Amino acid sequence: MAKYDFDVGVLGGGSGGLTVAAGAAQLGAKTLLIDKEGKLGGDCLHFGCVPSKTLIMTSRVRHIMKRAGHFGLPEVELPLVDFRNVAKRIQRVIGMIQRQDSEERFCKLGARVEFGESTFVDEHSLRLNGKNYSAKNWVIATGSSPSIPPIKGLDKTPFITNREIFSLEQLPKSMIILGGGPIGTEMAQAFSRLGTNVTVIQRPGQILHKEDKDMADMVMNVLRSEGVTFYLNASIESTQDTGSEREVIIKTAEGSTVTLRAETILVATGREANVGGLGLERIGIDFDKKGIKVDARMRTNHKHIYAIGDVNGKYLFTHAAGYEGSIVVSNAIFHLPRKADFTNLPWCTYTDPELANIGMNEAMANAAGIEYSVWTEEFRANDRSLAEGEEVGKIKMLLDVKENPIGVQILGPHAGELVSEWVAVMNGKVRFSSLVSAIHPYPTLGEINKKVAANFLSTKIFSDKVKKGLKFLFNLKGRTCG
Ligand SMILES: Cc1cc2nc3c(=O)[nH]c(=O)nc-3n(C[C@H](O)[C@H](O)[C@H](O)COP(=O)(O)OP(=O)(O)OC[C@H]3O[C@@H](n4cnc5c(N)ncnc54)[C@H](O)[C@@H]3O)c2cc1C
Repeated sequence: MAKYDFDVGVLGGGSGGLTVAAGAAQLGAKTLLIDKEGKLGGDCLHFGCVPSKTLIMTSRVRHIMKRAGHFGLPEVELPLVDFRNVAKRIQRVIGMIQRQDSEERFCKLGARVEFGESTFVDEHSLRLNGKNYSAKNWVIATGSSPSIPPIKGLDKTPFITNREIFSLEQLPKSMIILGGGPIGTEMAQAFSRLGTNVTVIQRPGQILHKEDKDMADMVMNVLRSEGVTFYLNASIESTQDTGSEREVIIKTAEGSTVTLRAETILVATGREANVGGLGLERIGIDFDKKGIKVDARMRTNHKHIYAIGDVNGKYLFTHAAGYEGSIVVSNAIFHLPRKADFTNLPWCTYTDPELANIGMNEAMANAAGIEYSVWTEEFRANDRSLAEGEEVGKIKMLLDVKENPIGVQILGPHAGELVSEWVAVMNGKVRFSSLVSAIHPYPTLGEINKKVAANFLSTKIFSDKVKKGLKFLFNLKGRTCG
């Protein structure tokens, strides 16, 4: 140990880095945690998951208020939104969660926390605030930043990203969103519901282009019905600042040129790994534009340096970063050669209705050349969903040729919560007969999970073969109607 100052050094105090630092310190490893910002929590807490989900809830409340008549209540006239109050609520929620991610808490757990910009000087040491720190193992968990596309004029046109959107001084009257991925789509609905006139420009032929088209189109149709305008298969030619407004010139799918104007442009065209300034070239770490290259144990080409979370460019989710952090703790602290397995990775886009996934969707199964069958159930056949005024959405279950589930997608109310039952079913290899025969409370949205499995099982149970057998054994007399 004398050889190095620390057992583990962690660069980046976000979802991934905090998992490693907490785990390593509690297991007795001498741990150093460094973040370049003056606070812990990372993008998820300050500019990502937490502010976006808080904003989404505020916009949902307003949306429900607008639909008061639908619930048998008197219609209400809604005053304009003062975004400063929305932003204050966002900061309150961040503040509550920040306590969990405070320097004091990590210090209590046994980790030393330092803030500042650091750079590797050799494979085991880095320089921070004028001092060198060495560690036996390093974990790079520096996250990602918005990727700004090279669009003509964009460098001279004011725009915002996820770094600014949650602390605006006022609600924009209009907003053009460049990019119809999860961030662009969630923000489109949230701002539209608050009263902003929103237009989304998307290069692929569907929004949420990693999702199956049928599910993504259903989300888009909901947003369209709420007033969001979409341009799909559109390319952005240029942008400019006209003084009072921002202008975006696009080429549409039909080949025509359209000039769009709005008060604000939100750039949500993807993410790029935070690798700059770390001195990775100096120590010969393998990385490209997508991120730092790692193996299944999250090790870089230097086996004692790990890279987890957004910075490795694999799965850009908080829970993926946390999971990868636990892989590092197993490898670096327990010295167990544990590999990451993303077969049953769940994820969710928090539009209303939400779109949640686990495992493979049809696009992924087709790309992998896997044969599958699809089983569905609609939310309009779920009693609780109807009681809650939610009629849009469905669950889609994919089975392989051995009739094992390889993936489930849920588009519906609280889909992100509903998919958790599939986390247990798929990871625990629970048999459908157990899922279907287990008692689920009525009326709940969760019954849809049981129902889709029952749709599959019923083709076996209510088959002609079974009916013939029962008739033969017990002399059943058959149909009484029709
Ligand atoms: C708007 C938005 C909404 C999102 N919503 C969701 C969601 O609902 N669910 C979900 O799972 N994911 C969501 N994400 C993605 C999620 O935020 C990331 O996947 C997650 O934060 C990645 O964790 P991380 O530890 O890799 O990086 P981060 O959490 O970003 O942490 C990186 C840390 O490294 C620090 N750092 C950067 N460079 C250096 C350096 N040179 N030296 C030291 N420290 C450095 C940063 O200050 C930061 O604290 C969302 C992202 C955005 C932008």
